[in-house]
This record gives sequence, C-alpha cells and structure tokens, in this order.
Amino acid sequence: MLKGKTALVTGSTSGIGLGMALALAREGVNIVLNGFGDAEGPQAEVAALGVKAGYHGADMSRPDDIAALMAYAEREFGGIDILVNNAGIQHVAPVQDFPAERWDAIIAINLSSAFHTTRLALPGMLAKGWGRIINVASVHGLVASAQKSAYVAAKHGLVGFTKAVALETATSPVTVNAICPGWVLTPLVQKQVDARAAADGVDNAEAKRRLLAEKQPSLQFTTPEQLGALAVFLCSEAASNVRGQAWSLDGGWTAQ
Ligand code: NAD
Repeated sequence: MLKGKTALVTGSTSGIGLGMALALAREGVNIVLNGFGDAEGPQAEVAALGVKAGYHGADMSRPDDIAALMAYAEREFGGIDILVNNAGIQHVAPVQDFPAERWDAIIAINLSSAFHTTRLALPGMLAKGWGRIINVASVHGLVASAQKSAYVAAKHGLVGFTKAVALETATSPVTVNAICPGWVLTPLVQKQVDARAAADGVDNAEAKRRLLAEKQPSLQFTTPEQLGALAVFLCSEAASNVRGQAWSLDGGWTAQ
C-alpha cells in the first residue's frame, strides 16, 4: 500500500529520523532526507533498500529554507505523501540561565518547522486524496522535566498543533498524529548521558542506568526501529481512523 509513495523525514541524518526513514523505505517508500552532518551515508543506506533517496540540507529553523526543501520535494519527487516532522534539538538549563538564543532555536526547530512543512505539504496531500503527517513529539509533549523549559514548551505545543490540524482534516483522507518517545539512545540523549556521568562521577553504563531508573520503568531504551515500526503502522490503512493522537512509546514513563 505504501510502495511508490514519498516521505519527507526532517532531521533524518541521525537517530530516530533515520530509523523512521529506513522503516518506511523497507515498505517501498521513496525518501527525502534532511538534516546536518554526513548525508551521503544515510542516503546510501536508504537507496540500498531499492527506493529513491534524495537529500536537502534545509536548516529547519529557517522558513525560507523550508520552502526551498518543499520545492525540491515537489520538483524531484512530485510532492510528499508522508510528512514526518522529526528534526529537533535539546538544551538543558534552569529557566533563569536559559540562553534566549537557545530558546528561540528550540521553538523554531522543534515546533514552528512543523507548522511550515504542514502548511506547505497539506494542500498537495488533499489534492492527491491521501496523506499522513507524523509529528515526533516526546513524553515531554505530555509531562515535564526540570531544566527543559524550551523543549517541554515546544513539544507540548507540537502535541497541541497535532490535535488542531487533525480536527481540521478529520473528514479528509489525511491523518495527523504525534509519536511520544521516552528515552532513545541517540546522539541527542548521549550528550545528556555524558553530562550525567560527569556530574555524578560515574561511567557511561552507570549514567545510562541512572537516567533510565529515574523516568523509564522498563529500564530499556526505546529504539529507532520500534519508532519506525510505529510510523509504518500510522501510515497503514488500519490506522486511517487514528487521528489527533499523541502515541507514547516510553517504557511506562507517562503511566506513572
Ligand atoms: P539526533 O540528534 O540523533 O537527530 C536530530 C536530527 O535533527 C539530526 O538529523 C540533525 O542533523 C537534525 N537537525 C538538528 N537541527 C536541525 C536543523 N536546524 N535543521 C535540520 N535538521 C536539524 O536526535 P534524536 O534523538 O534522533 O531526535 C529526533 C527527534 O526525536 C527530536 O525531535 C527529539 O526531540 C525527539 N525525541 C528524542 C528522544 C530521545 O530520547 N532521543 C525522545 C523523545 C523525542
């Protein structure tokens, strides 16, 4: 059912976005990759699955770059059927010490970029008569943690945005949902593991154990592969009436 469709996955040169891109590619979906750092490696990994793999290096904090990314997808792939808003950054600091520039960047990348991609992608999906929008939020779209005010604000905003657009499209063949992962061991989280190891004077393995023990009852990291499988499900016919949900994959974090 997904074969031959095209997905744009923002922030897909690493971590969760790359996991989702690979899972969709395994279903025969052509992929537009985006993100910083090495793009050739991820592009080759996706192309090896037998689909078309493109890349655009738009900085998702910049609306003009986002417009250029969408124009690239239109020109090279004939538009987007599946939009995964995944690009995101983190900064950890108490609010009174939070750099204003980091606040603005987190709101722009983790929240506003989804508004810009959605407003530009939705008309094409409605015209084609099918579409899926998946917003990678977080447990921090549902509950808070100290020292993450910008991230928590952006992710709560993204869950709210998901619900609003899901209502606007409720009678259409386009569904809009959010996925809320708990801890996933990606570069974004490894930085927090390193900070914890330094602060507590413990090794990497112990720092990971302590982070998990605080919040994630399963004591297991969620994996990009599990998140990719959930994205594939949300793109399936069986999920066509799943709308406006914030679907947790968090080892029990938000059950507490
Ligand atoms: P990551 O650092 O591995 O990947 C982030 C991706 O976003 C990279 O490809 C990076 O190049 C890209 N990116 C960053 N800034 C960008 C910008 N301005 N423009 C374009 N691309 C940009 O992190 P990850 O853990 O895979 O995070 C992916 C998403 O998942 C984020 O939205 C994050 O908030 C969310 N998330 C992560 C976790 C976790 O535990 N890792 C938990 C919940 C939610």
